Amino acid sequence: MVSKLIDKYYRTDRLPHIWCTGCGNGIVLRSIVKAIDNLGLNKDDICVVSGIGCSSRASGYLDFNTVHTTHGRALAFATGIKFSNPNLHVIVITGDGDCAAIGGNHLIHAARRNIDITTVVFNNNIYGMTGGQYSPATPTGDKGTTAPYGNIDYNFDLCELAKAAGATYVSRSTIYAANMIIKQVEEGIKNKGFSFIETLTICPTYYGRKNSKGNAVDMVTHLKDSAVNISAYEKLSEEEKANRIPIGELYKRNRPEYTEKYESMMKLF
Ligand code: SF4
Repeated sequence: MVSKLIDKYYRTDRLPHIWCTGCGNGIVLRSIVKAIDNLGLNKDDICVVSGIGCSSRASGYLDFNTVHTTHGRALAFATGIKFSNPNLHVIVITGDGDCAAIGGNHLIHAARRNIDITTVVFNNNIYGMTGGQYSPATPTGDKGTTAPYGNIDYNFDLCELAKAAGATYVSRSTIYAANMIIKQVEEGIKNKGFSFIETLTICPTYYGRKNSKGNAVDMVTHLKDSAVNISAYEKLSEEEKANRIPIGELYKRNRPEYTEKYESMMKLF
């Protein structure tokens, strides 16, 4: 099955990939591809857009229409692409730094507009490719190359941010629960509006080493132990919720989609 997906959806001449041993990016990427395969979408009807960073290298490995853009700007490019061809399924692949720091404004405005883009954030709590700097998703107190004594910032809850900004589908999963990522990407693509899918993944090379998190297996085990399905999470006491992360479909609502609204308005003039 895996080799079938690789032959069908990957640019095999671009492999092997550059990701470190133990990196979680491959699990997220494979889950996205499996979701596309499950939906039976035509490859030519898909455009994958990425920014800069380890996860954003994924677009180069995929045999769809792909655009590897500049740091933080994937959603800006994706908005233009969706606007010029609303029939495309536009999927953005981004990291936590790319999406929430450099691209933070693009994120809130894409969500506010409810433009039909599926955004998958590979959240590994740190900047990987650029050298291990702390990101807006690095937990308070954790270390990065730019926070050698610990990060004093409060970290974003990316899903709450997307929800508050106007996203109509918001979910979170972990690379331990890869089947959940597949389902969420399917739902995100089916949602006619802005879909935000946070996948908690691991960077053993920077985040793991700088924070003494052990090896890749230890880090995935930690994700498994900290994640709790949202329905069970809501029943926990405030004390029990500390250090637990809710996963699952966190938020859904209906709002008119941006390109459809624009098209309807243009018909009036
Ligand atoms: Fe993965 Fe971290 Fe290596 Fe980047 S630096 S490929 S995120 S393990």
